[in-house]
Amino acid sequence: METPETTGTQFIAGKRRPGTSGEEFAVTNPATGEVLAIDSLAGAQDVDEAVAAARAAFAEWSRTTPVERSEALLRWADQLQARADEFARVESLNAGKPIKLTTGFDVPGTIDNVRFFAGAARNLEGRASGEYSGDHTSTIRREPVGVIGSIAPWNYPLQMAAWKILPAVAAGNTIVLKPSELTPLTSVMFAEAAQAAGIPDGVINVVTGTGPVAGQALITHPDVAMVSFTGSTAVGRQVAAQAAGSAKRVHLELGGKAPFVVFDDADVEAAARGAVAGALINAGQDCTAATRAYVQRPLYEAFVARVAELMDGVRLGPLDDPATDMGSLISFRQRDKVAAMVEDARTAGATVVRGGGIPEGTLGRAAYYEPTLITDAAQDSAIVQQEIFGPVLVCLPFDSDDDALRLANDTPYGLAASAWTTNVYRAGRASREIQAGCVWINDHIPIISEMPHGGYKASGFGKDMSAYSFDEYTNVKHVMTDITGEQHKSWHDTVFT
Ligand code: NAD
Repeated sequence: METPETTGTQFIAGKRRPGTSGEEFAVTNPATGEVLAIDSLAGAQDVDEAVAAARAAFAEWSRTTPVERSEALLRWADQLQARADEFARVESLNAGKPIKLTTGFDVPGTIDNVRFFAGAARNLEGRASGEYSGDHTSTIRREPVGVIGSIAPWNYPLQMAAWKILPAVAAGNTIVLKPSELTPLTSVMFAEAAQAAGIPDGVINVVTGTGPVAGQALITHPDVAMVSFTGSTAVGRQVAAQAAGSAKRVHLELGGKAPFVVFDDADVEAAARGAVAGALINAGQDCTAATRAYVQRPLYEAFVARVAELMDGVRLGPLDDPATDMGSLISFRQRDKVAAMVEDARTAGATVVRGGGIPEGTLGRAAYYEPTLITDAAQDSAIVQQEIFGPVLVCLPFDSDDDALRLANDTPYGLAASAWTTNVYRAGRASREIQAGCVWINDHIPIISEMPHGGYKASGFGKDMSAYSFDEYTNVKHVMTDITGEQHKSWHDTVFT
């Protein structure tokens, strides 16, 4: 990266400029501690200007035709494709991800999402029209909501920016996005690429700042029609309470604690590989990460042994090494939080089968943490109940199918889950009874642009990705037209005579 400079990463009304809060923040590479940029953070005045820019742009953008928006998104995808390596490199450096993950997942996933919403924009339509009363024609208009205020987390900065921005602008809204202060770089690049593709200034604005300052200013701004939040359940609850005060529409994508259920007829090798990949992807900082493996007793020992063996082969290393499987956590704070949860579990009697520590040498001087496998934890203990957001998998045995499904549902969360079985009836029952927004059968983690992502229970409500997300970002208007010229008379008579 270039030498750090205070250039500012606010992107407001099509211009990049410093924020006005007077506060600066060193944006770092958590895998080395290197400072990548000095961000001059957004204050309330910047949020105000960004919302004003979005409001001004709404008048025209909301009246563009679907094909105009679609073509703009396709040009945007081309811009991203041409700069894919740069996006992958910056995302890797800022979020501590191995280059293998950003080139294979984050960047192509984002480009696919842009192309999906280019198509979806042209399929956004009302679901019903007809003559339900006999003498009126009813039609549905799907109208954009207005200025969207979005707040995103640090774990997949580029994909989260895409998930927030794309359905909003494809449906004709304009947006102000606040990424996490830890990872602002690719969100701003993403917005600049949209501008290069011809999306008008003001349609997409990015304010980089802290939650309590810029986030609060965005949520409480009177001209923000809807708040779309992805982050922790604790902050999500505050956001919902504040939005309720002003009757704003809210969409919440919150934490997760995904169960991974292995029935005794499963392919144990496939399940063990799926568990390691599902638990360690993005160093476990994934809201759908496999965190609780429940394994039916006949397979339990073999599963634990194989997972331990596979974890031994996971390569931690420099981010730019194509052989590195797992990078660092986002910060020392996050690493220490994970380490403390593992220590508490150990103290409470759990067995740490693998990992459970900070690696030795250079990696230990950055925010790396070892792939960790835990057994013998109690179902009601913190390590089983609370989100860890680190590379930690807990394995517990179960006896009956009823037990497995009860345990799978026994946390406050309900974002994602998987069931591993070769029995179609068990798969069917698990997919019906597990309370989560996504249930994978014989896999864990894959996402696709066409299908929705979102939670049950304390994992939030509303959907990202897919055409379902348009339900969040549009108002549904019923237009009822008298086709006889006589209806007003008959209603008048019904009501008044
Ligand atoms: P976080 O809740 O600490 O922060 C999320 C965002 O909210 C950040 O931009 C932060 O600056 C902002 N924020 C913090 N306090 C705020 C406040 N008082 N008012 C307004 N904004 C505020 O979460 P995080 O640590 O950045 O991300 C990790 C969390 O995100 C995990 O819980 C994870 O499960 C969740 N997550 C969920 C999904 C999903 O789709 N459900 C996806 C990714 C991450």
